[in-house]
Amino acid sequence: MDLVEYQGKQYFARYGLPIPSGEVANTVAEAEAAAERIGYPVVVKAQVQVGGRGKAGGVKLAGSRAEVAEHAGNILGMNIKGHVVRRLWIEEATDIAREYYASYTLDRSAKLHLAMVSARGGVDIEQVVEEDPDAIARLHVNPLDGVTLEAMRELVERAGLDPQAWEGAAEILVKLYDCYIKGDADLVEINPLVLTTDGQVRVLDAKVTLDDDAAFRHPEWAEIENLGESSERERLAKSKGLSYIPLEGSVGIIANGAGLAMSTVDVVNQVGGAAANFLDVGGGADADLMANALEVINLDPSVRAILVNIFGGIVRCDDVARGIVSALEQVDIASQIVLRLDGTNAAQAHRIIDERASNKIISEHTMLGAARRAVEIAGAPSSQGGSKP
Ligand code: GDP
Ligand code: MN
Repeated sequence: MDLVEYQGKQYFARYGLPIPSGEVANTVAEAEAAAERIGYPVVVKAQVQVGGRGKAGGVKLAGSRAEVAEHAGNILGMNIKGHVVRRLWIEEATDIAREYYASYTLDRSAKLHLAMVSARGGVDIEQVVEEDPDAIARLHVNPLDGVTLEAMRELVERAGLDPQAWEGAAEILVKLYDCYIKGDADLVEINPLVLTTDGQVRVLDAKVTLDDDAAFRHPEWAEIENLGESSERERLAKSKGLSYIPLEGSVGIIANGAGLAMSTVDVVNQVGGAAANFLDVGGGADADLMANALEVINLDPSVRAILVNIFGGIVRCDDVARGIVSALEQVDIASQIVLRLDGTNAAQAHRIIDERASNKIISEHTMLGAARRAVEIAGAPSSQGGSKP
């Protein structure tokens, strides 16, 4: 789960990181009231799960109530890279002398955690990484050893942070590691970590990705409101144990196994179509599961054909076929379904489908054939990109 900035900051605060004071606001009036309590100047910040808010005009300094109202009004409803702003974070403004970067993430290839610190943080960090990879100091951390204040002092010095920032930044990095490990995050990032004009080190932005597999250890996560634009169908899929990823096209895809689902997406592309989603039903494919999968896909208004691609191994194709037939009795599916069933008991499966003889289900024997048929039904992909409602 990805947290938005203020949730990330609140998560940091649990682990003792110093966070500027601020308040959430969902309306202009709430933003004004928050700013009155915090005191001017404040920063009005869009809370969306995407970087580059500053450049998009989603982060604004305000020196008065009128300015807060103006910026809050402009930012609420703003579309930042496909994310519509519904919530603001109003924060006491900081006088910035220098902007740095700090993060921890897992370096899978090294099988170690990786700390990254740079003296060139701020809105252009991606560009800095590209132009001058040496501008980022890296330190691999063995999870069995953890980090020490000493090691962090050495790291921030090596990163070229200003000497006044060394102690404060090193202390923050120790706490940030604690948050990363005990908080079961896959990523914690502070950009910018700033040195203020009066010599303090502060956390001005927060990016936190929590490791969903650790949720059982964190009852407190239940209170974190999911502000991702996860749609009704994403929530439904999750609650039914399906892995569902929405995409941009018009062919809905159901497959068993992530590998087959990915190949199906590729084949649909290859024949000139575009997948509307990626839905992996996993090991099973019984009637309930198929009904759930079809129900999820059916909620997507951009789906114009559904391609079901099941390879029977342990799962028997005739079970899948019965599953689909009974799913169609449970759910009223808007689109036509192109079915490719191969593997164990495929012949029986085809008989079951043929008996049903509905123009809702079309059987194809090959993956390529099925993809062609589905794309044909869905029609040419619309040229407009962008995100879905
Ligand atoms: P992002 O663009 O989505 O990464 O949003 P950030 O929270 O990182 O803010 C973008 C930029 O706004 C920062 O790099 C700062 O330069 C600036 N900014 C954010 N907060 C403050 C603040 O309190 N005071 C000042 N002067 N600038 C700020
Ligand atoms: Mn930032």
